[in-house]
Amino acid sequence: MPTDQSRSINPLRLAKAKERIVGSLQLGSLARLKGLLLENKGELKYSLTFDYDEAGVCVVGSSIESRLILQCQRCFKPVEVEINKSSLLGVVNDDEDAFDSLAREYEPLQLNDSLITVEELVEDELLLSIPLSALHPLDQCTAIEDLERINAEAKLNPFSGLAALIKDKD
Ligand SMILES: [Zn+2]
Repeated sequence: MPTDQSRSINPLRLAKAKERIVGSLQLGSLARLKGLLLENKGELKYSLTFDYDEAGVCVVGSSIESRLILQCQRCFKPVEVEINKSSLLGVVNDDEDAFDSLAREYEPLQLNDSLITVEELVEDELLLSIPLSALHPLDQCTAIEDLERINAEAKLNPFSGLAALIKDKD
């Protein structure tokens, strides 16, 4: 039975039962993603596990997978970026002590009244994994081709610029 992804879950309770939630979301349904993607197509696959560690911290194991269409910051054309992120989230309360005592390998996950939706949780994870500056590999970026063409033309005729300037004076 598919979980209702917009419904609130209680990680603390799910951890007691060592639950696992697996599913997928349409990228177009994630509101905070708007404006970051060049195309709102595709899906986000996720797997969430809930457990307590030896110190009694509620730990959510999150694993997300997606392909995003972003804009290359060099040539401004679409670039496909593969996302594959696994992380361990340690559930903390509001107080700072909990943040400080959280084991290094955990990212803090703050909850409102012990509740969060699956959608919020995996959307957060995805937002953290989007590269700030998406770029094609050098050999696939058209901006590099353009640059090389300009350089090549300049080498073939180094004085073309100068000649044009002189011509303009006449
Ligand atoms: Zn590019």
